[in-house]
Amino acid sequence: MRVHIDAKVCEGHGRCYVLSPLVFAADEEGNGEVLVEELDSPDLIAAADLASKNCPEGAITVSDGA
Ligand code: SF4
Repeated sequence: MRVHIDAKVCEGHGRCYVLSPLVFAADEEGNGEVLVEELDSPDLIAAADLASKNCPEGAITVSDGA
């Protein structure tokens, strides 16, 4: 599984890196950035899913990368 943030949609609320700091961090403007694109464990997939469900802008996509 892979995770992606659409930087054009992200408004920097910070929920992703507060909820799931293993997968996301803040960039210098407070917008979310992906630390780990390849989600190779159930914990990382769960963390990315949690952030995706809680992103107010719907900016986070978790997919199988196909
Ligand atoms: S939760 Fe969504 S809008 Fe907020 S910083 Fe993360 S990706 Fe951006």
